[in-house]
Amino acid sequence: MTLHFPSVEEARRALDAPLYADLAGDLNVSFEFFPPRTEKMDEQLWSAIETLTPLGPKFVSVTYGAGGSTRERTHNTVARIAKETPLAAAAHLTCVAACKDEIAEVADAYWEAGVRHIVALRGDPPEAGKRFEPHPQGYQGAAELVEGLVQRHPFEISVAAYPETHPEAASAQSDIDNLKRKLDAGATRAITQFFFEPDSFFRFRDTVAAAGIDADIIPGIMPVSNFAAVQRMSAMCNTNVPNWMGRLFEGLDTLPAARQLVSATLAAELCRKLYAGGVRDFHFYTLNRAELSYAICHLLGLRPEKSA
Ligand SMILES: Cc1cc2nc3c(=O)[nH]c(=O)nc-3n(C[C@H](O)[C@H](O)[C@H](O)COP(=O)(O)OP(=O)(O)OC[C@H]3O[C@@H](n4cnc5c(N)ncnc54)[C@H](O)[C@@H]3O)c2cc1C
Repeated sequence: MTLHFPSVEEARRALDAPLYADLAGDLNVSFEFFPPRTEKMDEQLWSAIETLTPLGPKFVSVTYGAGGSTRERTHNTVARIAKETPLAAAAHLTCVAACKDEIAEVADAYWEAGVRHIVALRGDPPEAGKRFEPHPQGYQGAAELVEGLVQRHPFEISVAAYPETHPEAASAQSDIDNLKRKLDAGATRAITQFFFEPDSFFRFRDTVAAAGIDADIIPGIMPVSNFAAVQRMSAMCNTNVPNWMGRLFEGLDTLPAARQLVSATLAAELCRKLYAGGVRDFHFYTLNRAELSYAICHLLGLRPEKSA
C-alpha cells in the first residue's frame, strides 16, 4: 500500500477546522413542502413533518403548483398543518390564471382556517418556458399581490428574492427595485431562490443593504437529491451550478445512499459558510423528505426542543 503524505499546510487546514464542532444551534429554520398528489406521497409528507417538528421551525410553508394547479391541495395541506400541529403554517399563493376576486377568495379561506402567513409570488406559467401573462382582471406581479393581500387581511407576508437575479429581470438593479416594492407594499421578509455558492448570497446581501432594504433575507437551501433534476431547474431559474458540483455527483446515479451523503455534505458546507458569514435564518426546500434537512440542522447545532 502506498501512503500519500499531505503537505503540512493541507494537514493543518483540515485539522484546524472542526467545521461543525459545538455550534450554538442559534438558528431559525423554516421548511418548505409541496402538496402531495397521492396517498403514498401524503404519508411521506406527514412523516417528514413529524420528524422536523421537534426542531421548532419558525414556520413551515406549502407551495402552490404552477398555474394555481394545486389550489385545493395546498389549502388542505396548510389548513391541516395549522389545525393538527403546533407549527406556524404558511401558504404559497401566486397570481397565475386567477382574477383578483378568486385570489381574494383563496386568501379569505386561509384567514378563516387560521392561517396568518402567505408567501406571495407572481408564479410561473403552467407550461415551462412560456412567458407569464397576467390574467386580464388579475395582478401583474407579486408586488401588486402583496398590496391586495394586506388590504384584505393583516397577513404576515414573505416574498421571493433572487441572489443571481430573476431570469426575466431587465437588470440586477431592477430586480432589487422590485424586491423593494414588494417589501414596501407590506412583506416582512424575503426568501431566496436556491443557490450553491455562498458568495452569491453574500454579494446579494450587500447589494440589498446598499439599496436601503433592512428586511430579513433568508437563504433558500436546496439539498440536491437528484443532480440532473436540479440542473434542469437551475437552468430555468438562473441558478449557477458550479462545474465542481457536476464532477462531485459523477458516477453516483446508481448509488442513492452515497448520493445522499454527498448531497448532505455539500448543503451542510454551504450552510456552515453562510453561518460563518452571520446568517442565522435558513429556509430548506425539503421536497417532502426530512433526512437531509434534519441532518444539516443537526450539524449546525440545532437540537429538538425539550417540550416537543
Ligand atoms: C422562496 C420561493 C418560493 C416559491 N414558491 C413558488 C410556488 O409555490 N409556486 C410557484 O408557482 N412558483 C413559486 N416560486 C417561483 C416564482 O413564482 C417564480 O420565480 C416567478 O417567476 C417569479 O415570482 P416573483 O414572486 O419573484 O415575481 P415578481 O416579484 O412579480 O417578479 C417577476 C419578474 O418581473 C420583474 N418585475 C416585476 N415588477 C417589475 C416592474 N414594475 N418593472 C420591471 N420589472 C418588474 C422582476 O424583476 C422579475 O424579473 C417560488 C420562488 C421562490 C424564490
